[in-house]
Amino acid sequence: MVVSSWPVRLRSGRENAPGVAVIAIDLALAVVATMALAAAWVRPASALPALPTLAPAAWPGGPKVASQAAAALATGVVSQGAPPRLFGAVVVNGHERTGQGHVAFTFDDGPSAGTTPRILATLAQHEGPAAFFVCDYQIDGDSAGKRANARALDAVIAAGHLVGNHTYKHTHLGTASVPLAWNAVARNERLIEPHLGGATHLFRPPYGLLSPLADRLLADLGYTIVRWSIDPDDYRPRSPTEVRDRVLRDIFSRGGGVVLLHDTKPWTAKALPMILSGLERENCRRIARGEEPILPVSLDYFATDAAGAAMPVPPEVEAQTQRTRAALDRRCEARRSSDRPAHRPRQPTISPAIPSESQPATRPD
Ligand SMILES: [Zn+2]
Repeated sequence: MVVSSWPVRLRSGRENAPGVAVIAIDLALAVVATMALAAAWVRPASALPALPTLAPAAWPGGPKVASQAAAALATGVVSQGAPPRLFGAVVVNGHERTGQGHVAFTFDDGPSAGTTPRILATLAQHEGPAAFFVCDYQIDGDSAGKRANARALDAVIAAGHLVGNHTYKHTHLGTASVPLAWNAVARNERLIEPHLGGATHLFRPPYGLLSPLADRLLADLGYTIVRWSIDPDDYRPRSPTEVRDRVLRDIFSRGGGVVLLHDTKPWTAKALPMILSGLERENCRRIARGEEPILPVSLDYFATDAAGAAMPVPPEVEAQTQRTRAALDRRCEARRSSDRPAHRPRQPTISPAIPSESQPATRPD
């Protein structure tokens, strides 16, 4: 039972032993929140009482988190203001529309001034969209490093990529108490909002894991949960070529999917040009054979409603896809031109037929 660990967590989070009154308050909050959540659990979402929009000033942080989380849960948690970009989609797993020539690249754990700009430059070169699920402890502070990371986040947004919430500091929401989950999500959202100019509406669970309570909390907050179908395990040290081979193997064998990468890892920043180049090479071959390419696209193409039906793709997203396709056609033509000389440079070959070993949602992301 997740909530049963709540008072224990609060106590262990303090440096000094708590007094009886503190423990009593913790226990009372736990009981209130548990009862409120249990009551909300059995009601359909439409029957939840409305709360005002969660303005940043009202969001929890620091010592007030437990009482605010309990208060919010006592009255029911509601979706935030504007409809999310992928509104209606509850979960994006990456399996939904694979085989239809779509691949979505996603990057977690940044922003990082040391690596994120390099990834942005590579994406811009291929005119491909991506999504970045950020942990804003990376930008929270006045040091030069934090400010540089914040500028990297601004560059992500300026480039038009999707930005999602990945908790403030990579909290494991499979085991976190409700107040801890609330704080990890809301604190991050509060820090993203001034940069993004609105709420993210997208959430990627650290490690891909959510407790039923955290799942309910995020659903009530209106988040679309974004998981993945292709995981090269780049969280651990890898050679760039290893990351490239793992990603391309799964893209080709599955006909697309949602790729999990980390823009904080230097080997991933080095692998991405090779990944997009290898994908482009295969796509040029496909186009030459009259087949459809596997285009880098926005996550919108993987969004389905609760019944599994594809969500409509917004016109501006479709326009981006057309720009990506036009860039691909230009680059394929350039490749054909460069291939015409008698001396043809050897290129590393990626087999599209290697079976996948990837297991999503169980590894650190
Ligand atoms: Zn992560």
